[in-house]
Amino acid sequence: MSEVRHNWTKEEILEIYNRPMMELLYDAATIHRKQHDPNVVQVSTLLSVKTGGCSEDCGYCPQAARYHTGVEGNDLMTVNQVKAQALRAKEGGSSRVCMGAAWRNVKDGPEFDQVLEMVRGINKLDMEVCCTLGMLTENQAQRLAEAGLYAYNHNLDSSEEYYKEVISTRGYQDRLDTIDNVRKTNVTVCSGGIIGMGENIEDRAGMLVALSTLSPQPESTPINALVAVEGTPLEEEKPVSIWEMVRMVATTRIVLPETQVRLSAGRTQMSREGQAMCFFAGANSIFAGDKLLTTPNPDVNEDMKMFELLGMNPQKPFTKKVQPQSVEASDSKFESLGEKPKWTRPEHKIDRNEAAKAKGKLVK
Ligand code: SF4
Repeated sequence: MSEVRHNWTKEEILEIYNRPMMELLYDAATIHRKQHDPNVVQVSTLLSVKTGGCSEDCGYCPQAARYHTGVEGNDLMTVNQVKAQALRAKEGGSSRVCMGAAWRNVKDGPEFDQVLEMVRGINKLDMEVCCTLGMLTENQAQRLAEAGLYAYNHNLDSSEEYYKEVISTRGYQDRLDTIDNVRKTNVTVCSGGIIGMGENIEDRAGMLVALSTLSPQPESTPINALVAVEGTPLEEEKPVSIWEMVRMVATTRIVLPETQVRLSAGRTQMSREGQAMCFFAGANSIFAGDKLLTTPNPDVNEDMKMFELLGMNPQKPFTKKVQPQSVEASDSKFESLGEKPKWTRPEHKIDRNEAAKAKGKLVK
């Protein structure tokens, strides 16, 4: 039952999701133990290196410029600022730094060159480096890989059907194309989604079908519980219950047996007991740090106390894959092509996104 399969159907996944809770937990925990050390958790620090002002309309995101959410935009951080924060993260027990920039896509030029320097800087600290910078081309993925990138995050967010209810400024296939470009390098893929956006259980299963069909499956899958931020189109959504979260984590573990399943946004709404149940169900990674991009996250010390209580240990960097070599900019064999990824711009209308945009205009 713990072999990797790329032909899961929605019906099979729904059957798993809806199993009696104790059976689901047992099945997921059994697979988890076959594939992973249940007492080890991988800890990542998410750093917003460029916050706010994004031109996309993702309904869950406080960083979209068109909504009024009180998020202050800032310029790209300096390489030294990022290195200092990475060092602090390392001292706090993180093995990976994930740098997020609120960009629709990567653009060749000085800012991307600066991000490449950040990747080199963090790699030299012997930490795994991940980036989440939006859509990218194959050449940009190769340049990131050459700088020493370990992972690239690009979430599918939800099922293909429900994605259209949340985002109108790009299509699902655009996400898959970026993941495909990352897969042409030796950088690992981090891709998951968000529950609690008003989707139904079929959509959750649909997202897992899409993730499991990727070959290879993502090395890391974040499962986020929506943090409904005032001013965003999804501000009225009710928080998901811990039981839904546990079911989603356990189902993800069964469908993606080798993947690191990452508890991401929404942990502040979860008790320690709830998180422990998620770890039992197969979660083996968290984001640490008091902020996840712009939304709150548990304090690092609290997380460390929780691990101590549960007898869990943070995973050492490069346990799963050797440290990528980092090539200096002066020795790079890739040129900057001055290109932007192509995307589909479906631009269909999503009523709640339009309403939040109109409200945002009024407030501004
Ligand atoms: S999720 Fe990313 S792409 Fe979407 S609005 Fe936020 S920053 Fe932009």
